[in-house]
Amino acid sequence: MPQSLTLALSKGRILDDTLPLLADAGIHPAEDINKSRKLIFDTNLPGVRLLVIRATDVPTYVSLGAADLGVSGKDVLMEHGGEGMYEPLDLRIAACRLMTAAIKGAPRPEGRRRVATKFVNTAKRWYAEQGIQVDLIKLYGGMELAPIMGLADEIVDIVDTGNTLRANGLEPREFIADISSRLVVNQASMKMKYRQIQPLLERLTAAVEARTA
Ligand code: AMP
Repeated sequence: MPQSLTLALSKGRILDDTLPLLADAGIHPAEDINKSRKLIFDTNLPGVRLLVIRATDVPTYVSLGAADLGVSGKDVLMEHGGEGMYEPLDLRIAACRLMTAAIKGAPRPEGRRRVATKFVNTAKRWYAEQGIQVDLIKLYGGMELAPIMGLADEIVDIVDTGNTLRANGLEPREFIADISSRLVVNQASMKMKYRQIQPLLERLTAAVEARTA
């Protein structure tokens, strides 16, 4: 009887890209995740279970060992810090960029900048590297509103097509990082369950490579 292996998936946009990749890798949930309110799913692989949780909770589950593996956006991993996890595979899904953005045409403020974001740790590091002094304002969503309402001079947010920024009269400014979803593995699980994790890793690596071949 194999030990159980738990893979934590990020809900939402990333999940839409993750499920087809898992299918390519031969990993099929026992029921339709999108039609269920359950949070734990068996799969066709003996002992392999899927958790479907909020994207920001995936690094918490994996770093603390409550899940052995996870699928997490690089934005979320950068913000979390990634302690206790390996990041063996770029899944090359849910690709986007982390950028600064401001009201279209607005001049840069002279002194300290007020920056609204949900990525406060990442933003703090990046602005420090640039030598720019900032006051960070933590928000949980709808960052585009902050410059419009005078809460902040600029924002740090995910940009894909740029439509959300444009629709709100903002423009992208500085590039911070390329983002895509990564497979993460709890460091202790990698040692203790290597014989089960390795074939999963191989299946996923082959599925990613087959797509980009
Ligand atoms: P867009 O209008 O295409 O530039 O998409 C921007 C919005 O969609 C952002 O505010 C993000 O919250 C969200 N978004 C786009 N791509 C991703 C992604 N890969 N991961 C997480 N959120 C994303």
